Amino acid sequence: MSLIVMKFGGSSVGTTERMQRVARRIADYKEAGHKVVVVVSAMGDTTDDLIDQSKKLNPNPPAREMDMLLTTGEQISVALLSMAIHAIGHSAVSFTGWQAGIRTEAVHSKARITDITPDRIFAALDAGSAVIVAGFQGMTLEGEITTLGRGGSDTTAVALAAAIKADVCEIYTDVDGVYSTDPRVVKCARKLDEISYDEMLELANLGAAVLHPRAVEYAKHYNVRLVVRSSFTQNEGTSVKEEAVMEQGVVVRGIAFDKNVARISILGVEDEPGVLAKVFGALADNGIDVDIIVQSGVQGGKADFSFTVSLDDEEKAKQVVESIRGNVPYREVTSEVGLVKVSIVGAGMVSNPGVAAKMFDVISKLGVSIKMVSTSEIKVSCVIAAEQVQDVIRGLHTAYGLDTAEQVFVGGPQDRR
Ligand code: ASP
Ligand code: MG
Repeated sequence: MSLIVMKFGGSSVGTTERMQRVARRIADYKEAGHKVVVVVSAMGDTTDDLIDQSKKLNPNPPAREMDMLLTTGEQISVALLSMAIHAIGHSAVSFTGWQAGIRTEAVHSKARITDITPDRIFAALDAGSAVIVAGFQGMTLEGEITTLGRGGSDTTAVALAAAIKADVCEIYTDVDGVYSTDPRVVKCARKLDEISYDEMLELANLGAAVLHPRAVEYAKHYNVRLVVRSSFTQNEGTSVKEEAVMEQGVVVRGIAFDKNVARISILGVEDEPGVLAKVFGALADNGIDVDIIVQSGVQGGKADFSFTVSLDDEEKAKQVVESIRGNVPYREVTSEVGLVKVSIVGAGMVSNPGVAAKMFDVISKLGVSIKMVSTSEIKVSCVIAAEQVQDVIRGLHTAYGLDTAEQVFVGGPQDRR
């Protein structure tokens, strides 16, 4: 007998039939003698639809009311799923995040879980029920409803698994597991049997939508055994763990890409000490996350530098830079969109020279110019123009020996959250 947390994403419970299929899977585990805690997302596009609706009434809705609204999506799912389980002769009980004892910090729309008191969960499990918990939500000490950020149900699942010391946390989605790259771009993308927490964290942060980055952080921190698998097949999925075995000769585990990039360039900046601190200090004060930063050589006492921000922050970043002109003299600020950040990730890179060189070579042979580069111990990212991104990803996939012979089957639209 095991204690298992199962998490089902929005597309896995998107229709009544899918909901029934999920209920059947839960019943199978119960019949096999396991204790099951289930975390569910809102059905299909519910969260997006709720956001659209709210925007029609108020383009800038108060964050508190937004959380009040969005948490209803998951509540629908837990109630319906529980009913579907009862319909096939098993007992189940649904809980909101707060009923499940999930406490968060007092921040709307992207709260962190501070602690979990799983008493009611244990009581319901002991009574023989499957416990169905609404993902992506919690409550502050003051009793305010909060959400954990888009895609946050993964985090709920992993945090619950850690709190109840589950044997495994299974994340069910509409693909067979974690792939070497997006199978919609590269047909011969391979499903990975294993991946390390660190590699998964990089991929998730770099735009692979299969797992929420914070969920991976939690899993690593609490050493939760995590499996990503399909709700449509019985296939084994991908196991995310501390140390994953590298296939011989393979140093790159996966390739991620992120289209949510804008490049801001500040040209002709006085090259004085403290300039960078002033610019990035002002951006940080305005809540703008900066990713890659590149400074070019200094000429005649002036330097150019550029950095990337998310597309949403493009205008705001330019305004901030303009607002500090009196303090940091420069000639011009420009921005560029239509870019993609392509990244290769693999724990084996540290001990293998030439990995980055190969990436640059593949990209240059395709006639694509690299606008920015950044590296860490286990990843190399290049910012390029969006037009040729598919060719670049395919080229890299082949060059790093990641192609499989078979074409993959993808069950449906990729579960984006
Ligand atoms: N329903 C929420 C979202 O779409 C949370 C989740 O699905 O994980 O972001
Ligand atoms: Mg998801």
